[in-house]
Amino acid sequence: MLTVSCRDVGMDCDYVCKGETEQEIMKNAEQHAVQDHHYKLEEIMTPELQEKIKSHIKRS
Ligand SMILES: [Zn+2]
Repeated sequence: MLTVSCRDVGMDCDYVCKGETEQEIMKNAEQHAVQDHHYKLEEIMTPELQEKIKSHIKRS
């Protein structure tokens, strides 16, 4: 199981995204950012943010 904490990515939020693969976790993170942080998809899809999220992925 892969997890990435929203807080680690820089948000004041206790949500933890989970997924079996990096692809799954990125999809989960995108949905969360859109639904709960009212991000627009094009704001999340930047290479900088994608890399930032990936760099905080933890294996558990
Ligand atoms: Zn969050």
